[in-house]
Order: sequence, then C-alpha cells, then structure tokens
Amino acid sequence: MAAAGDGLLVISGGETTLSPDLKRIVTFARRKGLKVELQTNALTSAYPRKAAWLAALGADLFNINFPSHKSAVNDRITGTKGTFSLRAAGVKNLLKAGAAVRLTHIVSSLNFRGLPAFARYAAKNFPGVKYIQFSYLKGLGGALENSWLLPAYTLASPFLVKALELCGKSGIEAVVDHIPPCFLGRFYGRHIDFIKCANGSDTSLSRQEKRRLPGCRGCALRTRCFGPRKEHAVMLGAVLVRPVKKTALHAAWPPDGQRP
Ligand code: SF4
Repeated sequence: MAAAGDGLLVISGGETTLSPDLKRIVTFARRKGLKVELQTNALTSAYPRKAAWLAALGADLFNINFPSHKSAVNDRITGTKGTFSLRAAGVKNLLKAGAAVRLTHIVSSLNFRGLPAFARYAAKNFPGVKYIQFSYLKGLGGALENSWLLPAYTLASPFLVKALELCGKSGIEAVVDHIPPCFLGRFYGRHIDFIKCANGSDTSLSRQEKRRLPGCRGCALRTRCFGPRKEHAVMLGAVLVRPVKKTALHAAWPPDGQRP
C-alpha cells in the first residue's frame, strides 16, 4: 500500500484491539509512511490502561462504531448484553489519553428517531471528539436480507437534519454518507461525496456503489453527488430523489448562524 501511494491503512476487524500483533502492524505501517485508522468497538478501551496503551500506538484515528445513546438499542443492534456503559467509557478513556476519535453512527430503522438525542448525548459526553459520521445503512450481508432495517429517506430525513443542526450548535463536526444530499436540507454540504468532490479526493468507490436516477437530471447538486446506493432501490421498493433547483455549492461547517 505504501509503495502504491495509498496513504491510508484502515485496520478493521473483528475487534482489532484483541490482535496480539497490533502494535507491530501499526508501527510497521507508520514506518512505511502510511496513516493509520483503527476501527474498534471501544470495549477494551473501557480499561484505562489499555486505552492509554492504544492511544500511544500512534494511530492517526480511532473509528468507533457507536450505534446508540440508549443501552437497550445498543444491545439490540450489536447483539450484545450490557456493553453500552463499557463502550461509552472506552470512548472517554481514549479521548482522555489524547486519541483522535471518530464516532460512526449507522442509521437504521432501529435508531433513526433518536438521532437528535444521540447528537445531544455525544456533545455532552464526548467533548473533543474529532467528528461524527452518520452512515445510512448499506444493503450488504445480513442487512440486504432484512430490508425492514432501512428506513425510507423521507422518514429519516427530518431527524437527520435536526441532528446535524445540533452538532453544528455544539461545535461537533459531522458528515453523512449513503443517503443522498437532497435529504439533508441546508446541510447538503456535509455529505461525504460532496466534500470529496470539492477537495478532489478519490470518489471511485462511490461511483461504483451509487447511481443517479432520471429525477436527478437538472439537480444543482449532481456535479457533487452520485445518486442513491444501487441496492437501496431494491430494499426500499423504490427510491425517491428531491432534485435541488438552485443552491450555492459550498461545504462550510458549521453553516451560517450555527457557530457555538
Ligand atoms: S436529486 Fe439526485 S443528484 Fe440531486 S442530490 Fe438527490 S440524488 Fe443527488
């Protein structure tokens, strides 16, 4: 990867922090000039010494799956029992140890109504978090066979917009993926594809996974949007888009008037 000039190594699991080779892998990758993103459920970081050890490894970003601010919802989504307080403690310990932390919040039918409350919870409990990514459910693996998990865009949109507004007011950076920008209201500029197009990043994966619909013709955002995910149309029966007539193409954050 280093020779190919990829730049970023994403270490995913299982649970990465259980690997006895983790230190060797991170050290080697950094020595080769790669940036390292470590994906974890944060449970092992509930032990302060383990969190401090992890933070000292030199990973550039800890990407933590944080599915809900409610214990019961957390347990249902993760298929675990009683892990919420450990996960929250893990995030706090990593932040305290100086790690850069991103929270990944997968949006599904099981949690979308709680998006604003989740944003409030994160602002109150995790000051210093680098950013939150709200990722609409992808139709992969088990999710594809359980299409009821995917809420209609129109249903989740108002909750997502409210959550983004609250993040802006709290000074937490937030980005969104896998729901088209036309469902993000005035926060369309927080869509990951919009941001990548604006700064010239690689968008090849998005182009593969998504497809514009006939309704996208004439949308002001179409130069920075690749449309809905292809499999969402299958899962939802039909996918609607909301072409945006005219807007300024900027990705400022927080939006005007939202500075804390
Ligand atoms: S209408 Fe189409 S091009 Fe415009 S934001 Fe929505 S999905 Fe993207």
